[in-house]
Amino acid sequence: MHMTVADAYFREVLDRLRENLDASTVDLWLGKARVTAFDGDTITIAAENEFKKNTVINRYLDRLEDGFETAAGKRLKVLINSRDELNEEENRIFSSASLPAVKPEEPKKDEAPSVFRGYTFENFVVGSSNKVAQSACLAVATNPVIRINPLFLYGPSGLGKTHLLFATVNEAKRQNQNINILYVTGEQFTNEIIDAITAKNTAEFRDKYRNTDMLLVDDIQFIAGKVVVQEEFFHTFDTLYKMQKQIVLTSDKPPKDINPLEERLKTRFEMGLIADIQPPETELRTAIFKQKTKTLGLNIPNDVLTYLAENIKSNVRQIEGAVKKLWAQSFITNEKITLKMAQNVLTDYFRECKPVITTETIFKQLEKRYGISKEEMTGKKRTADIVYVRHIAIYLIHESTDLSLKKIGRLFDRDHSTIISARDNVMKRMKSDTLFNKEITEIIEELENR
Ligand code: ADP
Ligand code: MG
Repeated sequence: MHMTVADAYFREVLDRLRENLDASTVDLWLGKARVTAFDGDTITIAAENEFKKNTVINRYLDRLEDGFETAAGKRLKVLINSRDELNEEENRIFSSASLPAVKPEEPKKDEAPSVFRGYTFENFVVGSSNKVAQSACLAVATNPVIRINPLFLYGPSGLGKTHLLFATVNEAKRQNQNINILYVTGEQFTNEIIDAITAKNTAEFRDKYRNTDMLLVDDIQFIAGKVVVQEEFFHTFDTLYKMQKQIVLTSDKPPKDINPLEERLKTRFEMGLIADIQPPETELRTAIFKQKTKTLGLNIPNDVLTYLAENIKSNVRQIEGAVKKLWAQSFITNEKITLKMAQNVLTDYFRECKPVITTETIFKQLEKRYGISKEEMTGKKRTADIVYVRHIAIYLIHESTDLSLKKIGRLFDRDHSTIISARDNVMKRMKSDTLFNKEITEIIEELENR
């Protein structure tokens, strides 16, 4: 029986949930839940009653799945039933007062650490938007530093950068058992160097980072604006580079747009290959949907696939989320997946996926694009460049937030007729000026795909 291991996983999952959510809420819905079966692939959790079962499925299933994946080191199927559905033996398990304290088994030493498992080149679907990034990673994994150093991947969140790094780690290990690989996030690197400086053992830190055959830093943009960290990373980079060790970096933007970042780091990041990952085009989205549904054993009719591909455009993570929601629904109700069912299940999900656009995000986005600050946009100056951006700001705030004209007026310290004419100006120009139209559409897309 895997029971005890499963209990330990569950305990770990609950502990993490309590850290991330309100502990009393977690206890309310899941405190009395128990693992009732585990066969290595599927874990069944019985909620205290039918009512809690439904809440757990609707609100916590995703988190449970992610939690079990972290705890078990692989994706488990998580099934939720309720105590009312249990047989006698299972009910006995349920009644046992507390979970036995068992530590999960440590992964064997020569296996890849659990987080990397499941992210391979085989299950990375390739299309024109990610082809260059994928081939570059594959080349690096099979033949470190011969051609590409450093490899710099960039693109918006949720498009597979981390997946590709993990796949690179897995493949490089498969090719050469003895290779010494270090994977960290920009944030981890930052924390480690700060800890090392505080504890006065930077020697140990340097030892670790400069004696590796391959260094992968995920989300390197995190070090922007951090002088000491950049200094340290610069030396790490240079040392490894001179020793012809492979370096792979990812970021949400290209080196030149990471700000503030020291010039000498930008130059170095640009020395090798820079590959961007774009949001998947329709064909790739459909292919990813097909792959994700296949792994879950789901049969999705074509009209549903089209519906999904139309509603999720920018982010692969959301594709996964949507597929899981469908799977959960069809599992619970035993319903066939139809367009109607998908629409019912996913309308809310699609709404949640759209990031909330606030006045602040609009100001920030415009400042990034035009270099005009919020103070200038809402201020009194009337130079042409400021007025131009001010009008766009007013238009976007009116279009994308639910602020009334009066409130927008207050925000810009102007009366409400000025606001209306600014907005109308922009609308008119969008109709007559295709370049301008494209510019505004681009900003809106950026806001939606943050
Ligand atoms: P990023 O690091 O760019 O934010 P991730 O690598 O975390 O994105 O990807 C988000 C999720 O989408 C992961 O679960 C990943 O496996 C999946 N994913 C992204 N791109 C693909 C793809 N081309 N094929 C299969 N799965 C993908
Ligand atoms: Mg990532």
